[in-house]
Amino acid sequence: MEQPLLYYSTNLLAPHVPFHEALLRGQAPDRGLYLPVSVPQIPLDEIYSYSAIPYPDIAFDVMRRFLPDEISGTELEVLIRDAYDFPVPLEKVAGRKFIMRLDQGPTASFKDFAARMMGRLMQHYLDRSGKKLLILTATSGDTGSAVANAFYGMDNIQVVVLFPESEVTDRQRKQMTTLGKNVHVLALDAKFDDCQALVKQAFSDPDLDHLSLSSANSINIGRLIPQTVYYFYAFSRLRMENHPEQIIFSVPSGNFGDMMGGILAKKMGLPVKKFVIATNANDEFPNYLASGNYEKIEPSRNCISSAMNVGHPSNLARLVALYGGMMDEKGIIHRAADMAMMRKDIFSVSVSDQQTRETIREVYQDYKVVMEPHGAVGWAGMMEYLKGNPADRGNRQLCVSLETAHPAKFPEEILRLIGLDPPLPVSLEGLEGKPEFVKTLPVDYKDFKNYLINTF
Ligand SMILES: *Cc1c(COP(=O)(O)O)cnc(C)c1O
Repeated sequence: MEQPLLYYSTNLLAPHVPFHEALLRGQAPDRGLYLPVSVPQIPLDEIYSYSAIPYPDIAFDVMRRFLPDEISGTELEVLIRDAYDFPVPLEKVAGRKFIMRLDQGPTASFKDFAARMMGRLMQHYLDRSGKKLLILTATSGDTGSAVANAFYGMDNIQVVVLFPESEVTDRQRKQMTTLGKNVHVLALDAKFDDCQALVKQAFSDPDLDHLSLSSANSINIGRLIPQTVYYFYAFSRLRMENHPEQIIFSVPSGNFGDMMGGILAKKMGLPVKKFVIATNANDEFPNYLASGNYEKIEPSRNCISSAMNVGHPSNLARLVALYGGMMDEKGIIHRAADMAMMRKDIFSVSVSDQQTRETIREVYQDYKVVMEPHGAVGWAGMMEYLKGNPADRGNRQLCVSLETAHPAKFPEEILRLIGLDPPLPVSLEGLEGKPEFVKTLPVDYKDFKNYLINTF
């Protein structure tokens, strides 16, 4: 039998735990984030063999290495086939420059990849132990709908989603509120940060211990592991046979969960030449990479790539840990990371709203490819990198930029920029006529706490 892989906390004060415990807890008791004690390795010839197998098979081969012995191969395979029943298109833009559309899942953002797998794994472990869980999540749009959709109808999990009423589009709201059953949606006349603060306070309130609260945002290791898979997938589909190549990825980033999936994939053995980490005007990370000094941005800046309006990425502590440093949950660095190594692997740039809009317009004009604001930040970041690195500009270098949401989630902006109303994907059809289940709540912790105690 293989030794079970254990998970440690980035704050280094909590005991190591097996995967299922890290998954059900979300955050470690010392407020750190869980990471595997050693990153599983995949030999290059096995990575090459992925070219011949479909997405769910790659997902199985990659993910089983993170949870040896915890779940049988057959059980894991069933969960994976059920979770990944949608396509993952790689669309050529020019030469060997591609975008990977991660927007074909049921809620049309890349968050479906992680939420669907995390939900199924949680249900699996809860079924075995007979326990129940109450998931609390604050959302600025995409997380709430992906999580609500992924957990909808599960017997042993209740979900409470808090969202800022005025910061979410009609379409995004209806993706959450038209579900019902075990999905409880609370609208607040507040900012996203206020919703987040209520959730955090509930997690640290001993009066609520009996509710078995857990979190579904990207601090949960169960959301990161599934996000390693599509990096392997892109490489497997686009690499040239008999040619030892290295791929460049560009990742539009907010809380850095998506990007951490990529970094883990590289640490597992995927031949990545460079990660471009593209942020919007929230430029705390590019500044940190350049200077080694970290300063979060408070309050975060509002940009049209709204899912990336993050002034302190919650996964940054994990990145720092993988490069030998230590950052606590407040963003204070206790041991410096190997910045030279980080700069070798990562290029980072902040992209303004103006640049984002120009990119959407230009890419459509030049290549007839429709991007939405988040994907456009990724593409613009990649172009910035190539501008400064002429050796990688040629047609031989394979580059993939991640498109993290479907353009139909942002119809007004796209219509204004390129005069086109992006057609709705099947998953977003039929929301208009459905009844909505939503409760409004004042921004007050006492009210929120009473709601939780009286409802569950
Ligand atoms: C959440 C989100 C992002 C940012 O991903 P992180 O993992 O938080 O960096 C980017 N684009 C879209 C559309 C998102 O929903």
